[in-house]
Amino acid sequence: MSNNGNLKLAIQKSGRLSENSLQLLKNCNLDIEKFNDRLVVSIRNFKLDLLFLRDDDIPEYVQDGVAELGIVGQDVLYETKADVKVVKKLGFGRCSLRIAIPENDDLRDIEDLNGKRIATSFPNILRDFLKQNKIDAKIVNISGSVEAAPSLGIADYICDLVSTGNTLKLNKLKSSISVLESEAVLIKNKNLKNHSDKYQIFLKLLSRIESVLNANN
Ligand code: ATP
Ligand code: ZN
Repeated sequence: MSNNGNLKLAIQKSGRLSENSLQLLKNCNLDIEKFNDRLVVSIRNFKLDLLFLRDDDIPEYVQDGVAELGIVGQDVLYETKADVKVVKKLGFGRCSLRIAIPENDDLRDIEDLNGKRIATSFPNILRDFLKQNKIDAKIVNISGSVEAAPSLGIADYICDLVSTGNTLKLNKLKSSISVLESEAVLIKNKNLKNHSDKYQIFLKLLSRIESVLNANN
């Protein structure tokens, strides 16, 4: 697969970004092969291969050049701190990384976070946020079911992706300060050579993506 000269684009295999990512590519008139669980799928009418991956792996794969391009949420991108170029915001996958607190608690301002324990699966983003705001709080790093942390007594507050707020409600939490407003972005490997064949394919793909995004606005 790596020697067919095709540009490689990594997208989420199955999750909240998958459908929109595929739809964007279809709107670019790309004819995608049937894929049934394959990792790599070729585009029939364009020199492009799609790599289907877990979203958490995409920034690093693009950084390392396994794929030249990727589509991933800004939340995951910033959390992994991968060294890639953000080419374009894509206008889908919008969500909000927020501090949530117990329903009966009250955060008047950000200073009230001082001395608190905050559970999250985004420790890097939260650390940067606290530092920028000169807050001294303890980050409790957990990988799943972050909403349960306050009732388990392992944290006072949480920092998690919030959409409807239903999960928060179930856990007697309410949404508070916004840490990051995220959407899906197209990212690119930094070493893709300006005059290479692959760069030309990239430019062609980018211009199609831009046309689709402009038509949507
Ligand atoms: P994977 O198995 O690939 O690791 P995941 O379970 O970690 O998937 P998803 O829940 O599918 O990830 O979320 C993928 C991305 O979708 C998030 O990183 C975020 O950018 C975005 N996202 C999260 N929640 C929402 C939402 N409610 N609406 C739209 N986009 C969201
Ligand atoms: Zn993930």
